[in-house]
Amino acid sequence: MKYKVYTGHNYKSIPQIKYLDADSLYALDIVSRILPFRVNNYVLDELIDWQNYATDPLFILTFPQQDMLPKVYFQQIARLLKNNASKTELAQQIYRIRMALNPHPSGQTEYNIPVFNDEYLAGIQHKYNETVLYFPKQGQTCHSYCTFCFRWAQFIGDKTLKFSADSEQVLVDYLKANTQVTDLLITGGDPLVMKTHHLQNLLERLLQPELAHITTIRIGSKALTYWPYRFLTDSDAPQLLELFSKLVQRGKHVAFMAHINHWRELSTEVVKQAVTKIKNTGVIIRSQAPILANINNSVDDWIKLWKKQVELGIVPYYVFVERDTGAKNYFELPLFEALTIYQSSIQNVSGLGRTARGPIMSATTGKIEILGRKTLAGVDCFILRYMQARIPSYVGKIFFAKFDGNATWFDHLEPAFSEDKHFFQNETIPDFSPNSNNSNVEVSV
Ligand SMILES: *Cc1c(COP(=O)(O)O)cnc(C)c1O
Repeated sequence: MKYKVYTGHNYKSIPQIKYLDADSLYALDIVSRILPFRVNNYVLDELIDWQNYATDPLFILTFPQQDMLPKVYFQQIARLLKNNASKTELAQQIYRIRMALNPHPSGQTEYNIPVFNDEYLAGIQHKYNETVLYFPKQGQTCHSYCTFCFRWAQFIGDKTLKFSADSEQVLVDYLKANTQVTDLLITGGDPLVMKTHHLQNLLERLLQPELAHITTIRIGSKALTYWPYRFLTDSDAPQLLELFSKLVQRGKHVAFMAHINHWRELSTEVVKQAVTKIKNTGVIIRSQAPILANINNSVDDWIKLWKKQVELGIVPYYVFVERDTGAKNYFELPLFEALTIYQSSIQNVSGLGRTARGPIMSATTGKIEILGRKTLAGVDCFILRYMQARIPSYVGKIFFAKFDGNATWFDHLEPAFSEDKHFFQNETIPDFSPNSNNSNVEVSV
């Protein structure tokens, strides 16, 4: 299948755009100047339900909607266009609005970039002891810019992620010096937009004996459901599958972390074929996604999604709460609603579907799971647990927040009891650099 892509603000040449009514078209014209879209022919032809586009989760996931932009910003752009503002004036306003949309939530740029040999390691993030994130430079775009994505800033030309001349070698050196790391997560963008030879150059380096401690390679990608031909008919698809097989045969656990938001993404024949191809290499497909208003905030959707995944041999992994960035207001829902949806859905699948854990907030302090609601010592509480934490001794710890039916994020919550207070503070940020004296910070609690 030939790949055809439409991106930025270039919606006029999309064949199906004729289905949009005048209001939707106008809204798309304005909003896509701030929040760009990207879409390919497979998503347009096979996934989006154009007859019902206004409420279609896959249309909303792919194309920015009027209500994703706060009204004042929408009106500012509309007014500038009406008054035939100059290109410069328009560009300046677009920039100001983008910066007001919190492009870097949860301290992504301040805290997670390691220092090694006195240098900031651009293209690497290291937040949790055992897992390093790598952003390969050729993989910093995606098949689609999901409208809720917390990495959207990368797609508007934000230069926060800088790369050194030989980032792969820097990564290898860093991993060699950090033998506590077991997992390398290749992320982006989407690493599977990269040509196979780039992936080979990166991943085959992990087979050297000095990196035997890297037992797991995770690849975060949306390609399985947004461009399944990557594994079927793309010219370098056979080499990609061979690379997967080779890594598995050489003893690595390779986890394909598939980003799947809606069960309909799994309903086409080509996706099934792609799943089979990938599974035949020995790679394990796991799946994660956030709960989003207007996309998948229904019990029925999650039951269908998990059942479909188990049927195809995909392992459900994390269910996230939407992060505070970009069009957050459009997608957010109270934590209590996310919890209710999760619990009602999990009750309706077998144990093999219950590997889905959540709802999880990936916050500055760590990944926090909302376990339930209960009255304790007369206080209505959320029961919370650290799934992951900057401070390793927090992991697995249960703590309590005062119940708040409107809260949509961790920083809206307050400790229920005084002994829970420290779990809400950001305290020490561990520095993993092997040259620093405080690697492996342990704080007893
Ligand atoms: C989620 C995440 C990881 C992986 O955590 P696991 O719980 O092992 O899946 C690693 N680094 C960052 C920055 C993360 O957000």
